[in-house]
Parts: sequence; C-alpha cells; structure tokens
Amino acid sequence: MKDYSRIVSDLFDSQLSEWDLARDNYRQLENVKVRKIFFAEFETVVQFNPGRITSSAAKVDASSIEARPCFLCEKNRPAQQRGISFEQGYTILINPFPIFRRHLTIVSDTHTDQRIAGNFMTMLRLAEALPDYVIFYNGPQCGASAPDHLHFQAGNKGFLLIEDDIRSKSLCRKEEADHDTELWLWQKYGRGIMTLRGPDKASLSAAFDNFYSRFALTQRDKPEPMLNILASYSNGTWIIHVIPRKLHRPACYFAEGKDKILLSPASVDLGGVLITPREEDFVKITSADISGIFMQVCFTGKEIKLLTEDILL
Ligand SMILES: [Zn+2]
Repeated sequence: MKDYSRIVSDLFDSQLSEWDLARDNYRQLENVKVRKIFFAEFETVVQFNPGRITSSAAKVDASSIEARPCFLCEKNRPAQQRGISFEQGYTILINPFPIFRRHLTIVSDTHTDQRIAGNFMTMLRLAEALPDYVIFYNGPQCGASAPDHLHFQAGNKGFLLIEDDIRSKSLCRKEEADHDTELWLWQKYGRGIMTLRGPDKASLSAAFDNFYSRFALTQRDKPEPMLNILASYSNGTWIIHVIPRKLHRPACYFAEGKDKILLSPASVDLGGVLITPREEDFVKITSADISGIFMQVCFTGKEIKLLTEDILL
C-alpha cells in the first residue's frame, strides 16, 4: 500500500505554504479558545471556532442545496486546493476550515449522494491507510454540510475524548463477541453509542450491515437512517463508533435570544469536542445544556442495547 501518512503530511506542508486561507485558518487554530466541561463520569471540551459558522449554520434542505454550486465538486473548489488520489474514485483534501490540527476531507470524485451503504468498507480502508487519523462520517441529515456529495473527514488522533473514554470500564463494556468481532456498549455517557472492534473488515462490515438494516426499519422516511460514525485503526484492529441519531439539530439551535445556542451536533461533537462558532454560546454553555442536546439528538444506552441485540450473528 502507498505510504499515505507521508503523502498526506507532504500535502499539508505544500498546501500551508501556498494557500493563504488555509495557512491563516490553521494558524488561528493554535490560539483557539477551549473550555472543559465536567460531568459525573466524563468530560467534554467546548471549542470556540468562528470559522465553522458556515458548516454549523449550513442550510441543508433540498432547495437550498439545489440552489448552490457544490463546494466539493472539483470544478467549484478553490484554485489553490490540491488533492491526492485515494483508491479509484476518491481525493484527499486538506480542510481549509479546521477543527483539528490536521483535518482532511476525503471526497468522492463524482457528485453522488452522501450514503454509508456501499461505502462502509472505504471508510475502513481509509482508517487503515491513515493510522494517525480518526475517520468520520456524518449522514446526510445529521451533520454533512454537503448531503449531495459523498465524503468523509479525518482528524488527527489524540484530540477526541472518546479515544480515551473507551478505556474507562465504567463507561464502555464488551457486550458480546463473535469470533474476532466485538460489540461494546456505553453507559453513563449521556449518549448511546455502539462500538465495534476487530481485525477483520468483512466481519465488521457484516455486523454494521446487520445493525443498519434493523435501524433503517425505524426511519423509513429518511434517505438513510440517521447516524454519525467514527473509525480508527491501529495494530491490526479497527475501532468503529456508530452513533445513531433521533434528531439533526436540538431545540436550542432554533431558539431566539438568550435561549439560543448555535450548536449543530455531528461526529466531532459526539466524540467529545463540541464546536460553538459564536463566542456567546462558548461562554454560556453548561453541562446541563450539553446533556439536553445529547438527549434530544441521540438514543439512550438502553435503546442502543435493544437496537444492537444479536447483530454479530
Ligand atoms: Zn459535488
């Protein structure tokens, strides 16, 4: 396999030297304000990131999407943005509006809808090719700001709190195992998550497909069942967090005045780093607000247990 770690590192070096917008935005990230917020069994980080307003406040209804040129299509991308090919049909780009110190967008070379069905294996291969990164997927109705153009994102490891939280026995426990593939479930984490671990892509993919088919039955009115996914790879093993969703945006997103908190949760937020593009929200948000947001947009641990029963069979 190509040495993507080195190729991507070279891409960062060259893009940050020749693309002013990207260089400025990555530099600003070094001074970004963060707050830790504590819960009974875990913490979250809140990041004040004004550069993310376009994404957080993106209008993703069908008519707004149709009315704008797709910013992930090659013909509409900034002239300075260069990419590297991944397999047949994907291009790795650096994300010019970063949350992570190293933040990538991996886009399909064709303008095709954001769907995980049929593309889950690509996500696993991306994680394997980029072992220093967490790969993430935001569904078309829960965080993707281009729901009409298939893409993944990736951020450097060592940033999302879920990476460490998985080691806490009070938060995350092995529920069942079949051959090599393990199902781990979360409790006392404020948000229900299904975690798959194992060394075999085919078996992980089969478990995901079983879950997906069952979950899809409960959201038949959607283009796909609402979910966020985080995948990483190290020492021959994948860790895949699947976060099923009930709702795209919480009530506080739509509130007016002092009740408003402009936070549009997606993979990164549910991985423990909440992005607030407005400073007033960054200052005022409390643990109770965050618990409320998680509760509205995610399933509970108990509900996830029911949704995942026997998926390893
Ligand atoms: Zn496009």
